[in-house]
Amino acid sequence: MLEKYDIDLKIMEVDEKVFAYSLDDNFFTALETQDVTRGLVEAQVHVKKLASSFELDMYINGHVIIQCDRCLDDMIQPVDANNKLFVKFGPAYLDEGDDLVIVPEDEGKVNVAWFLYEIVALSIPIQHTHAPGECNKEMMKILKEHSEQFVEDENSEPPGENVIDPRWNDLKKLLNNN
Ligand SMILES: [Zn+2]
Repeated sequence: MLEKYDIDLKIMEVDEKVFAYSLDDNFFTALETQDVTRGLVEAQVHVKKLASSFELDMYINGHVIIQCDRCLDDMIQPVDANNKLFVKFGPAYLDEGDDLVIVPEDEGKVNVAWFLYEIVALSIPIQHTHAPGECNKEMMKILKEHSEQFVEDENSEPPGENVIDPRWNDLKKLLNNN
């Protein structure tokens, strides 16, 4: 399924070519990632042929569905970002770092699926929550009740580092019931 994200650089007859993709649920499922499993993101890859390499300007715009940090319900996270990648031909595949990748010259193609995914994943803020007041109310109520109880418990017996916060056990129960 991810073969369609192969860009054949050898057939680049013009100096610049644009490839467009829709990154949907199937895309995220095929990559088997943990953080993002659903979404709809329009992606464009502008491939420019340079003297000894190819310049790929990648743009992504859309939304992904991820878990809210506060109430653990699904939330819609808009994403809008871009990144540049240089591709060179060489004897074997080699990821040189953030912005340079070597692909085998006899194959002459680069698969952009992971590069596009990385742009999406990196554009998600570390802290992501629903807008104020839009969290799952039932979940927030349980969290609030248990955090009050937890504060009392904490005063009598401070929890060690490996002790699981009792709030999470209740949350797990709730999630399993759904
Ligand atoms: Zn929330």
